Amino acid sequence: MSALAVGLALAVPAQAQDAAAIIGAEKARDAALQENIALDYVTQLTTRFGPRPAGSASETAAAEWAAGYMRDHGFRNVRIQEFPLVGWDRGEESAAIVGTNAQPLVVAALGHSPATPDGGLEAEVVRFSTLEAFQAVPDGSLAGKIAYVDAGQLVPMQTGAGYGPLTRIRGAGPALAGQKGAVAFIMRSVGSDEHRMPHTGTTRYVNGVVPVPAFALSAPDADQLSRLISYGEPVRMRLSSTARTYQTTSRNVIGDLPGRMRPEEIIVLGSHMDSWDLGTGAIDDGAGGAITLAAARAIADQGRTERTIRVILFGAEEVAQPVDTGNGGGAYLRSLSPEDLANHVFTGESDFGADRVYALQLPVGAQTGVFADAANRVLYPIGVLRSSEPELDGGVDIGPIVQAGVPVFGLKQDGLRYFDLHHTADDTLDKIDPEQLSQNVAAWAGLVSLVANSDVDFRAMVPATPTP
Ligand SMILES: [Zn+2]
Repeated sequence: MSALAVGLALAVPAQAQDAAAIIGAEKARDAALQENIALDYVTQLTTRFGPRPAGSASETAAAEWAAGYMRDHGFRNVRIQEFPLVGWDRGEESAAIVGTNAQPLVVAALGHSPATPDGGLEAEVVRFSTLEAFQAVPDGSLAGKIAYVDAGQLVPMQTGAGYGPLTRIRGAGPALAGQKGAVAFIMRSVGSDEHRMPHTGTTRYVNGVVPVPAFALSAPDADQLSRLISYGEPVRMRLSSTARTYQTTSRNVIGDLPGRMRPEEIIVLGSHMDSWDLGTGAIDDGAGGAITLAAARAIADQGRTERTIRVILFGAEEVAQPVDTGNGGGAYLRSLSPEDLANHVFTGESDFGADRVYALQLPVGAQTGVFADAANRVLYPIGVLRSSEPELDGGVDIGPIVQAGVPVFGLKQDGLRYFDLHHTADDTLDKIDPEQLSQNVAAWAGLVSLVANSDVDFRAMVPATPTP
């Protein structure tokens, strides 16, 4: 904060100082409701490049195009930050029940799954209804079998609350299967739909390896397999995958709308450029780039802000790595000097589709007070309520800078239909509702404008003893 700004902050009551920022934020919010950059960006991105797997030629081409898009829309210092990555290519895959009940099943290999042996593998399926039951069997006891975890459907919720526990199965399953002696791992897709579209997603490396081939079954196929197993006869399956990993690079695309008074103070708006390979990554996460770019533009259209707004389209959010370096978010953090990092005043991430925002979560210590009141005044008219819950992590891409102490906000989106589409072939542009997308951009524009034109220091608001 400059000496002048300190003087003003002391001389002018906080409420009065915020009045101009509130009016500016309301203008940015209302301008965002009229803008069309968000829909244009996500339409062009998903149409021109289709799926953008982490480290693929398509992700690279999309990043270069997006840098140009940023420049064309007035962003400054637009740059591409490259980092090494182990990429993963799906290849071809298939699954079938064999024997008396022979029939094909619809599966998708999980990200970074190894291939099956040439020609596939065939084995008896052993089903578990919880991760805990799977963990409880002795090591080596599933020798030569296919381990199957069907922990039930994800229940659709506004908050998307059920996703985390089910992704633990996806992350830990293949390593556990290897430990128990199984030759492959299969699971019910982490999803809330009843379509025959499996949900892919990354699995996790343990000690640098994913030991066995791993697949997600679509919900109706998981139902079918579980029913057949319940009849009591042994069920054998054939699984085949030609997946492979390869050494490549990914990249972050970074663009600034420099501040007028305190340009060194940075607000980072994050999302990710890469997508899964099955759909075109419209809701995950072309929409996030669209929302943050359009919100930043709507704010800048009202005049230059006091602080700098930085939009980052992170690379390689979706995939685990043999050695975890934080992917795009980690590469960005490592590029910052301690002084740069200390000047990162606020951050948020948009990575939950394009449906409407319903709540604002502020950093620890900031949920009440003058700033929270101002934010509520700006966001309430578009149906966004301030939450009493603090935002703690923000998301995968900004996770590394948040862990390093950058205050984080969350604009919570309606997740009721997100996990019907997420990581499936059905994640396509037509699923984006332009009206909800506009409301989403308006919420980002209103909140970020308020921060970009004020002196508020969220780091100073953290209580000495955080509440449990
Ligand atoms: Zn995502």
